[in-house]
Amino acid sequence: MAAARRPARSSTRRPAASLEVWKFGGASLAGVAEIQKAAALIAGHKGPLVIAASALAGVTDLLLEGAEHARAGRPADASRVAATLLRRHRDVVKGLLPSGSARRTLLTAVDSAAREYRNLCTAIGLLGHMAPRVSDRLVSRGERLSAQILSAAIVRAGRRSTYAEATDIVATDGQHGAAAALLPETTRRARRILGPLVARTVVVVPGFIGRAPDGSVTTLGRGGTDFTATLLARSLRARRVVLWKDVPGILTADPRVVTDARLIPQLHHREAAEVAHYGAKVLHPRALIPIAGTRIVLHVRSFLDPAASGTEVSARRSLRSYPVKALATVRAQAIVTVAGKGMVGVHGIAARTFAAVEAERLSVSTIFQASSESSIGFTLPESEASRAVNSIRNAFREELASGLIDNVTSRPGMAVLAVVGDGMAGTPGIAARVFSALAAARINVVAIAQGSSERNISFAVQSSEAADASRCVHAAFQLSKIGGGRPQAVQTTDVVLLGFGRVGRALADQIALPNGQATVRVVGLLDRSGFVFEPKGLSRRRLLHLTQKKDAGALLASLGGKAAGAAEALTFMASHAVSRPVLVDVTSDETGGLLRTAIGHGFNVVLANKKPLAGSWDSYAGLLASTNNGGPDVRYEATVGAGLPIIDTYRKLVETGDRVLRIEGCVSGTLMFVVSAVSSGQRFSDAVREAVERGYAEPDPRDDLSGRDAARKGLILARLLGYRGPAPTPDDLVPRALRDLPLPEFMKRLPASDDEWAERVERERGQGRVLRYVVTATPRRVSARLSAVPVSTPIGALHGTRNLIAFTTRRYRAEPLVVSGPGAGAEVTAAGILNDIYSLASR
Ligand code: ADP
Ligand code: ASP
Ligand code: MG
Repeated sequence: MAAARRPARSSTRRPAASLEVWKFGGASLAGVAEIQKAAALIAGHKGPLVIAASALAGVTDLLLEGAEHARAGRPADASRVAATLLRRHRDVVKGLLPSGSARRTLLTAVDSAAREYRNLCTAIGLLGHMAPRVSDRLVSRGERLSAQILSAAIVRAGRRSTYAEATDIVATDGQHGAAAALLPETTRRARRILGPLVARTVVVVPGFIGRAPDGSVTTLGRGGTDFTATLLARSLRARRVVLWKDVPGILTADPRVVTDARLIPQLHHREAAEVAHYGAKVLHPRALIPIAGTRIVLHVRSFLDPAASGTEVSARRSLRSYPVKALATVRAQAIVTVAGKGMVGVHGIAARTFAAVEAERLSVSTIFQASSESSIGFTLPESEASRAVNSIRNAFREELASGLIDNVTSRPGMAVLAVVGDGMAGTPGIAARVFSALAAARINVVAIAQGSSERNISFAVQSSEAADASRCVHAAFQLSKIGGGRPQAVQTTDVVLLGFGRVGRALADQIALPNGQATVRVVGLLDRSGFVFEPKGLSRRRLLHLTQKKDAGALLASLGGKAAGAAEALTFMASHAVSRPVLVDVTSDETGGLLRTAIGHGFNVVLANKKPLAGSWDSYAGLLASTNNGGPDVRYEATVGAGLPIIDTYRKLVETGDRVLRIEGCVSGTLMFVVSAVSSGQRFSDAVREAVERGYAEPDPRDDLSGRDAARKGLILARLLGYRGPAPTPDDLVPRALRDLPLPEFMKRLPASDDEWAERVERERGQGRVLRYVVTATPRRVSARLSAVPVSTPIGALHGTRNLIAFTTRRYRAEPLVVSGPGAGAEVTAAGILNDIYSLASR
């Protein structure tokens, strides 16, 4: 029979050696256009093909969501989901097929699947719980429908196609929710059923599902269609498996976390198996098992760019100069530890520990070596930790009672990162490089494991540090240079707005303008209620919509956002990756701690908010430390003079070798407006009221009139010059008696000081002077004062909300360098911020 096994032969019983198995992921079957594109690719291929189809994009999640509603006693929500599913599939069918019998047959299938789904949901609602067995039955609908639809689309595209039931082919062990395949049985069935078909027609098999020995439907675990594809390829001795995905191939790291992740042109089966095992979503964890050790080549290719070659996974070895090729992360893990001094030298503890875990049918993802023999640790999904702990405690009842074992504990909230590459075995110092990179980034490694194969090193960190850890190891091995280092996409600068008031909105609008730089986009917004985050960038429409709703008083958490504290939101965003992220602070809060968290996550920071820079010297220096150490940058042009280039001018002067001796001027648009109005004869109280009405002042004008805001600007300028002393005590223009009154009362009593102001103005006018609120900064001194200046000086000639800042330097000593222009208003402040963002983007 040896000859019959030779793959080169083809017959009706045995598929042709040129057989390929193609898998289409959910993203490649999102709607009518995608399905047509998939069908065209299939129809355009010459040789025999078997297709494994995922459910339409998002359908599996939706099926589970509806069932969860039903279980939790929300039948109306479940019913809404059922209606959505029905509509989505019906629309796709109608979009793909003209009316006729093929369309009718499919619509009937869709209707009956939806009906069964509703019935199942009702049953789940009555029971109040959903066993994995029921859940498997429920979700199997998604793949069954999509496969029938795809098959019809292939026929429509001009190639013969047949739908085959996966449950007749894929035999599983009956472990609901994450079944393993029974290979010999699956092989027999696949050959019997598919063998005769493949020579004549393109067979489409639903992915993800199989049948248990007792006849029930089982799923192979999320992402299981990858596994279906490799199983079928192995069973039918295909030449090649192609997984069509929405990524260019297997990348050096998860592109949602590491933005400079690169396409890996080729990986060995064993390397890909480790990447899959350690949680890279791009491959089902067990997808490589059926084809490891065979000559079947697997390709992960881009559905978006079908001409590109993607990643080849095969028995070859390449990229030898990269001992490390990829990183993968499993999240939501717990470390379970069995510890006790009495364990040293006692045989069989490890074996019994793992037997106890096995007895619960749980599988351990990584085993950690302890430095001594006095503990054994391993990770498994958080959700399974308590079952594992109980089972182990049970197994060691006596040892726990006698004190031979101290305790069995679990620590949730962990992530396991695997550093994978075949060349690691022959390259000394890999582990040292990994851990010194992590140490330099101050990431705390909780446990370390070196695979016995030396093809991976894995380590556990707190989940919140997983993204930073990936980025730092990725950089340490220069993985962004793999495959010629071609970037997968244009590098963008991703902006997250902290605060979404007037300035934040003006900025979002300027960024979204069609003539803005396309590479700068807003990915997130935070307010005190929560955040909105879209790693691909929030559309102009969405931003406008949010702006309108915010104007009407709504908070982000109620506008489709998530409720969360700001630090939590930032950690979440950082773990999702964002490219060259910039956090823009447009609040007026004490945000220093939060900004340092952001910097710790690699965010650059742009401030319009003065407070974090105008606190103690230590907090100021702490905030700017990373900038001086080559880390993320902190820019704050908009804190002084709104959009005017004040900090920029200072830097340019210094860069060209000048020394700035003194910076002086009117830096408060509000005070300038009030004081100049009064100087030209207006009543003080009217001037204040007008400033509020025109939006020049803070809602409570005392924030401006007290001089505190101007003093902060003065301090920021003085610190630029090296001043380290205390904040200045500004001249306070609020009459003492009115300082603590409620706002309406304050406004009412303000006219009481009008006469005093008028007299003072008159007095100065007699001497050719006008009142101005002037801030002066030198390396040794800073002040914020109401002063009388000659009308003939540039400051004296100012009017409206204009700012004027004069730099006295070694070169500009006799006549200072003056920067002047509008120094208040949302639009110009946003322009100042945008300038900082662009300058970061072009770094
Ligand atoms: P499918 O549509 O075939 O089910 P998936 O969505 O399961 O595809 O897998 C592709 C996704 O996996 C990508 O969108 C990407 O976000 C994620 N991913 C995680 N790690 C990697 C990696 N190393 N390479 C490529 N993609 C990855
Ligand atoms: N549809 C299933 C899932 O979303 C299986 C798959 O797509 O591979 O997990
Ligand atoms: Mg998948």
